[in-house]
Amino acid sequence: MKIALQGLLPDELRELCAAAGESAFRGQQLWQWVQAKGVTRWEDIRNLPGKLKETLARTHTVEPLKMLKESSSSGGTRKWLMELDDGETIETVLIPARTWTTICLSTQVGCKMGCAFCASGQSGFVRHLSAGEIVAQFQLVAAFAGRRPDNVVYMGMGEPLDNYDDVLKSIRLLNHPEGLNIGARRITISTSGIIPGIRKLATEGLQVELSVSLHAPNRELRRQLMPIENKYSLPDLIDACRDYTRQTKRFVTFEYTLIQGVNDSPAMARELARLLRPFPCRVNLIPLSPVEEFAGEAPPRAAIEAFQRIVEQHGVSVTLRASKGQDADAACGQLRRRQAR
Ligand code: SAH
Ligand code: SF4
Repeated sequence: MKIALQGLLPDELRELCAAAGESAFRGQQLWQWVQAKGVTRWEDIRNLPGKLKETLARTHTVEPLKMLKESSSSGGTRKWLMELDDGETIETVLIPARTWTTICLSTQVGCKMGCAFCASGQSGFVRHLSAGEIVAQFQLVAAFAGRRPDNVVYMGMGEPLDNYDDVLKSIRLLNHPEGLNIGARRITISTSGIIPGIRKLATEGLQVELSVSLHAPNRELRRQLMPIENKYSLPDLIDACRDYTRQTKRFVTFEYTLIQGVNDSPAMARELARLLRPFPCRVNLIPLSPVEEFAGEAPPRAAIEAFQRIVEQHGVSVTLRASKGQDADAACGQLRRRQAR
């Protein structure tokens, strides 16, 4: 497969042009086109010698993604289906809020983690996305939406910390001051709890936000919902998060998807608060989005609010994710499945 130019840092582009027999300055121009201007088609790169483009195109591409179609859903959420070079497909979601927009990026085709309630997990793992394929999602959506997203969340298909190197490189590219220059604090990585990845991330010197998907206040229940619990246990995960906060001075946000009759009881709200109270963090409650592969449902509004109140009363700060973008198959983390069928 050809290497996406969107995944290369300025130095790498300079070396690439030098290796093709051109001046390193051409690499700087290429960086401007790919990152600052966000081109996603060869013909839009205008001031490079045709011969250089030809040489590069043998091994590299500026078109790693093809837009297949857009489907919109209520609340202004927009969702795009894109095709990769090898014919696989991914989806990227754009979620508007009052004055900003958030793009939800995919990091893998499928996912190995197999969480019970997640469509990505149920369709199995196909492959990792390269840093270039991750950054190109941003560029392509910005071009189609006619507007640059303000925030980036790694909450689409896949487990970001299972594709650590390419995900980290994509963050450095999005964050690059001479490129898109998206502030690290506007970037959120979400993980199902890969402890070595969390520990490594703490040492990167990045100010990115970390979300950890918890979904259960104890090991027994978590194991039923998330097979990863068998490998990385809840107590160790909480320890890793505590260390992360200590090292980076950044709060962790714990994602908790509420499923009626499974993890939404007042007793579980108290158990969750007891687990998290000892250290500074936030909880984000997400009502379950229905997926065909999982029989569960979101609790009624009153139960969600009761759960929220209890956790709050026990001294842990809680937010409730608005239902925007949660309808149909628009929710992050449960993409592609419909297309695959
Ligand atoms: N793999 C990462 C990031 C992608 S999923 C992770 O699991 O954290 C982003 C979030 O959406 C996770 O918190 C995930 O648990 C949640 N999610 C997945 N399927 C969902 C569903 N059907 N309803 C609500 N939230 C869901
Ligand atoms: Fe993978 Fe996240 Fe879905 Fe679990 S919730 S299967 S980790 S994408």
